[in-house]
Amino acid sequence: MGKLGLGIAAACAVASCAVAAVMVGRRVRSRRRWWKVVTAVQELEAAAATPVGRLRQVVDAMAVEMHAGLASEGGSKLKMLLTFVDNLPDGENGIYYALHVGGTNFRILKIQLGGQRSILGRDVERKPIPQSLMTSTSEEFFDFIALALKEFIERMGNNLQLSQVRGKDLGFTFSFPVKQTSVSSGTLIKWTKGFAIEDMVEKDVVECLQKALSRRGLDMNVAALVNDSVGTLAVGHFLDKDTVAAVVIGTGTNACYLERADAVIKCQGLLSTSGGMVINMEWGNFWSSHLPRTSYDTDLDVESQNPNDQGFEKMISGMYLGDIVRRVIHRLSIESDIFGPLSYKLSTRFVLSTPLMAAMHEDDSPDLREVAKILEETLDIRDVPLKARKIMVKVCDVVTRRAARLVAAGIVGILKKIGRDGTGGISSGRIKGYKSGKMRRTVVAVEGGLYTSYTVFREYLNEAVAEILGEEIAPYVILKTMEDGSGIGAAMLAASNSARSVDTVQVL
Ligand code: ADP
Ligand code: MG
Repeated sequence: MGKLGLGIAAACAVASCAVAAVMVGRRVRSRRRWWKVVTAVQELEAAAATPVGRLRQVVDAMAVEMHAGLASEGGSKLKMLLTFVDNLPDGENGIYYALHVGGTNFRILKIQLGGQRSILGRDVERKPIPQSLMTSTSEEFFDFIALALKEFIERMGNNLQLSQVRGKDLGFTFSFPVKQTSVSSGTLIKWTKGFAIEDMVEKDVVECLQKALSRRGLDMNVAALVNDSVGTLAVGHFLDKDTVAAVVIGTGTNACYLERADAVIKCQGLLSTSGGMVINMEWGNFWSSHLPRTSYDTDLDVESQNPNDQGFEKMISGMYLGDIVRRVIHRLSIESDIFGPLSYKLSTRFVLSTPLMAAMHEDDSPDLREVAKILEETLDIRDVPLKARKIMVKVCDVVTRRAARLVAAGIVGILKKIGRDGTGGISSGRIKGYKSGKMRRTVVAVEGGLYTSYTVFREYLNEAVAEILGEEIAPYVILKTMEDGSGIGAAMLAASNSARSVDTVQVL
């Protein structure tokens, strides 16, 4: 080999060493970045962990806060509002109508009750509320609703029914914060969910509806004003008398339950013929230091329209779960390149909805095709390797599992408050009811898109309730799905309240 040949060989060797060094360097850097991702996911998992011991602490905190909220006005973040519903439906007969206003769609319902736990027929119509009406005047808003009801009745009865509904009782589910003054009256405290009809705030919502019905020539009587959780409890109780509580987990979340009237300490003058009273907990605002909060939750709260408010809701409800996942993926994208170049979409709030997150979580194709599709179409993230898609699924799982298990703890907290969890209530740890053979069958009605449509969420929730209660008590506690429960329940409450011409609950 000549000098030239040697020179070339040496140059080649140097070049290949350099290439190898670059490649090794890249691999090391890439491994380091991957390690960062794995560490961040592990940190998330640890911060969001819900071992059963922690869940039991949440159970206790929920029961204690419920007690405090009942003891005095403002005694807890839980408002524990009176609903003036003291008798839950059980065995009503006849045809009843209900309206449900609570979001972008409103619903009109007609149900035929056949007594003895039977619903003989139901018709439900969903109608979107035009965006312009959400910020109009109360007159325009309620005229729209009254007209829709009138058309519905005419359609159902081939134009023959308007005279037949004269004097008929109507249930009204209104899922906004309302200060109830009787079972059929209450004033709007504030609008939420994008509504802003200013002239309605602090007005009696039933009066507004009643006037609009008259303007449309509908002679009907609004006999019950309820929120969605109370409606769900009503229908649950109609179908199964062991139903003592109801939970809604949809866009937002809330719960209500049947309490002894004498336990409502802040309202000692409460007279109730049944000795009971449904309490609207407004549990979305529950807070406890035992809740496993992560830095992503803190950021979500700070950037929300209502910081320091609805802390529990922000960890568990449909409006927020997708956005928590988006925040985690955003951080992982900043710290590594496993999701490719940083997509600007990742910094857009609420761009990843909870149904899309659920679709990724439940993707069972071997190459996670659905995950890839949603990443591309929704977040503008393309050509993601399989290991990154797996990370995506893992993050969805951590966020959903925590949410479902916290709801489970909340439910057991309610059961604990009313002595239905087998421990004998919040003042003692003894197994009272159960050991003395008194543990009773207990049903909780559950409604809302997250529970009914997100299978993994529902399974995690059911599993956690059984885990917290333990195998001896769990068989006594049943969670029952109530689709459309809130509207049907309002019609039932209209039925059970129509028989009585005066309110049976008074505050002295
Ligand atoms: P609302 O709470 O507005 O009365 P729903 O009870 O129907 O309405 O719940 C709707 C919410 O449920 C949506 O905002 C969404 O977060 C959640 N949701 C609906 N479908 C699914 C799904 N397939 N997977 C996960 N979440 C869902
Ligand atoms: Mg709802």
